[in-house]
This record gives sequence, structure tokens and C-alpha cells, in this order.
Amino acid sequence: MSANGIRPMGVMLATLLIQLSTPVFAQTECLEFRDPEVMLSTTDRWRVFVAERDVNRILDWIVGVTPPPKVVRREVVQQTRCLLNALSHSDVPLTEVPQVYSGRRSFTRQQSIWMRKYNFSGGAFDRISETARNLCGDGLPAESARWQPHMASHRQCWLGEGGVGRSLDSNQRQRETLQATAMPGLSRHHWATDIDILDPYLNPASWENAGPYVGAYRWLRQHAGSHGFVQPYRHSQVNPWFIRIEEGWHWSYYPVASVLQAFARQHPQALAKRLAELWGDNESYSFVRDGIGVTAVLAKD
Ligand SMILES: [Zn+2]
Repeated sequence: MSANGIRPMGVMLATLLIQLSTPVFAQTECLEFRDPEVMLSTTDRWRVFVAERDVNRILDWIVGVTPPPKVVRREVVQQTRCLLNALSHSDVPLTEVPQVYSGRRSFTRQQSIWMRKYNFSGGAFDRISETARNLCGDGLPAESARWQPHMASHRQCWLGEGGVGRSLDSNQRQRETLQATAMPGLSRHHWATDIDILDPYLNPASWENAGPYVGAYRWLRQHAGSHGFVQPYRHSQVNPWFIRIEEGWHWSYYPVASVLQAFARQHPQALAKRLAELWGDNESYSFVRDGIGVTAVLAKD
């Protein structure tokens, strides 16, 4: 009798423990966004989360000087895993296990990427624009699609090295860089909501025509949304001031990212002030700082 009396108690305790721990386990499950209501309610949950916090703390998160709250990172990491898992198990032929090559970046990290390009060092990057090609004329070989800092003809065009022909001025260099690199403080990668996947070289050519990621790209356009991801950088968003190349590798977790983007647009003055402090008088930021202005970038990005 006594043994029978204890057993149900143990079962009850175990059941209670399972019930108590269910929300924790639920966090590791994939959120499904096929139903638009789920997207609305998840985005609303994050809108409340952001609205309840101090404005300056959110701004510091947006410009990359403080890491995002842990709960944000947890949900994005979980959904990223769900997305890449689904891609792995699809019928898309892949040469390797899909992975994230770049996730959250700090202001300092983005600054080093920006300065590397502005000062023209490191590996090949982005895409040579028609403007640069027209300016430098025959100085740039026709077969060069991307900027290659080790090539003398490219150095001539970008930096004016060698003193022959025309070269880009500071503003033009910034605009070339802006094709695929956000200025430090204005990168979506600061938010911890955005990821670069599959292609370690971030080469646009690999995502079009017969490139190795064309199949995966088609799959992502069809299925990423059901995991909560959207593609922020498309040709369709190209405009004369803030040109973007098509980035098949860059995906953004919409429920959090859309809330932060709206927050930034609602606080343009405070954001511009914070960025002015961070940028100082660095000449490589002049195009946005002294030219088009932060508000214009927010409106267009
Ligand atoms: Zn990216």
C-alpha cells in the first residue's frame, strides 16, 4: 500500500516537472511562419520588448556598440538553425553543410571592414560600378567584375596611384563601398538579426546564371519566409543614392529586424547624434555625414 501511495506521488512530481520545463523546451523548437498571424504576433511580441526598454540602450544596440539582448540572439540562432536544417534536408544539391559565415558584427568590426575597402587593401570585393568604369575608362580591364586591391590598374582607379588617368575621389570611393557594405553604425549586422550564409566569398556571380548557389537561392526565396527570414538587399531596391547589389547570401530575421528598422526611422535625430559621436571627423564617412545625411539613408535602406 505504502509503495503504491508513493508511486503516484512520484509520477505526479515528474509530470509537474515536465510541465514546468515545457516553456524552456519550447524555445528550442522551430517557429513556423506560414500563417501570417504568427508573423504578426511574433513581431508584436518584439515590438513590445523594444518599446519597454530605454531608448538609448536600443540605440546602442542598433549602432553596434553594445551586444543585443540574449533573448534576441537565442531566437535568431534557433531560427537560423531551423532554416539551414530545412535547406540541408531539401532536394537542393549542396557541396557542403550550409553554414553562417557572418552574423552579428560590432561597430568596431564593421569599421574595420569599411576602412579596409576605403583604403583599398585585402581581398577582392563587391562589384565595379558603371560610374567607376566610365570615370577610369580603359584603366580598368573589361574582364574585371570586382575590385581587386592587388591589381595596379585598380589601384590607379581607386587611389590615383601612378598618377595616370582619372581616379575616384573620396565621395566616389564611399559610394563604391556602399554598394555592398553599410557604414559602421548603419549595418543590419549590428542587430544580430542578419546573417550571411553559404558563400564564404560573398560573390554575386556565384548566385546567378550557372553559379554554385543558384539552386539554394531559389529554395531560399521560396522557403526562408516560413522560418521568419526575408532578403533585404535586392536589385529591386536599387536607387541612385544608395545602390545595393543583389545579396543572395544575406537574410534577415524579420520579426526583430523590422521592429528595429521602424525604431531607427522613428528616432532619426537621436540616431544621427549618436553616429556623429562615433564617426567624429573621419573623412571616409563624409558622403553620408556631410552629404546625404543619416535620415536619407534610413529612408532608403
Ligand atoms: Zn550581410
